[in-house]
Amino acid sequence: MSKIVMKTPLVEMDGDEMTRILWQMIKDELLTPFIDLKTEYYDLGLEHRNATNDQVTVDSAEATKKYGVAVKCATITPNAARMEEYDLKEMWKSPNGTIRAILDGTVFRAPIIVKGIEPCVRNWKKPITIARHAYGDVYKNSEMVIPGPGKVELVYTAEDGTQTSELVHQFTGAGVVQGQHNINASIESFARSCFNYALDTKQDLWFATKDTISKKYDHTFKDIFQEIFDAEYQQKFADAGITYFYTLIDDAVARVMKSEGGYIWACKNYDGDVMSDMVSSAFGSLAMMTSVLVSPQGVYEYEAAHGTVQRHYYKHLKGEETSTNSVATIFAWTGALRKRGELDGTPELCTFADKLEKACIQTIESGQMTKDLALITTIDEPVVLNSQDFIKAIRKTLEGML
Ligand code: NAP
Ligand code: MG
Repeated sequence: MSKIVMKTPLVEMDGDEMTRILWQMIKDELLTPFIDLKTEYYDLGLEHRNATNDQVTVDSAEATKKYGVAVKCATITPNAARMEEYDLKEMWKSPNGTIRAILDGTVFRAPIIVKGIEPCVRNWKKPITIARHAYGDVYKNSEMVIPGPGKVELVYTAEDGTQTSELVHQFTGAGVVQGQHNINASIESFARSCFNYALDTKQDLWFATKDTISKKYDHTFKDIFQEIFDAEYQQKFADAGITYFYTLIDDAVARVMKSEGGYIWACKNYDGDVMSDMVSSAFGSLAMMTSVLVSPQGVYEYEAAHGTVQRHYYKHLKGEETSTNSVATIFAWTGALRKRGELDGTPELCTFADKLEKACIQTIESGQMTKDLALITTIDEPVVLNSQDFIKAIRKTLEGML
């Protein structure tokens, strides 16, 4: 069998720990035997980030802008313990944060649905994709502890020096206060990323805020989405047979619980943080959750939603057997390969990506899975495989399909 040829390279961002081990196994077993894999390789493993003063992260994001599609392995975000463990020059920032800042994107997270791993919410039949706005609000706030009676105001000083103020509260005793902001440009790119991704995946888009209470702040989000939708997307949505739906956040939550899924739920930063954890745990496992960063210019970076699975890596280093689920990382590759195929007009690549995804699902549905899934599956007597054998089982299923 001849290998599938790629026209344009994928930007490949390698990572850390157990996911770095899986990364190589996936390439060796599931990709290079079938594809003449073209990638521009960036090593985002912590050692190399440290050696390059994190320049490699910036370079990989710039390359993503150039080529349009990247696939990323999970990476360590350093903390004090990692400073010591890796003898770091600095506590380098989260690579995801750096990449997101350069690409100015929105992250979309969707569960991978398989029979036998049933969502806790009985009526959820299709994936619910969460789109989280990744800038501002409480994540870029300023706060103060108010020690006692006094007045707190919001003051805006324009460039010409004129001031406008708004009373926050006349304190009669101790309390707390918090200032939040967002910027229209960021909300606009969030909106465009959501509309584009909805068109891309042919799913309805829901968006919700608390605009009845927050008549200026949240209302601005609502208005910006509506203006952009009316001006740029109304017709495209109609042609694609999908809808844009705005409602209040509490109404959205109630509807989500009663829905059967199959749409994108756009959330403000905090809502997205909280709701993505709720949705992912209700769907079963973080190891079955994909994640893609989409920029308003239509640049894509695919990854798994989970981290580097440190605990398993330490077992691996001790020579013990691990049973780490590689599905989300495989789906990062298939997402990127399919997008590359779409952009390059190489349908063979898209078909291969579809088949590899099906092979993962069929393998699990046949009862062969990693330990994390075996613990929650409704399938009788599942066969628990180790990290390597699970990937080999997927390869066997895949070969049967090709
Ligand atoms: P984690 O890597 O997501 O793992 C947390 C736990 O979840 C694991 O110990 C394991 O549970 C389970 N798990 C996650 N993925 C799994 C998989 N594929 N297969 C089986 N079980 C899986 O989170 P963490 O341990 O908090 O973080 C480790 C490192 O990852 C940190 O340095 C963090 O900075 C980084 N991180 C990176 C990203 C990213 O690059 N996108 C995201 C999050 C975290 P059991 O141990 O019970 O088996
Ligand atoms: Mg969270």
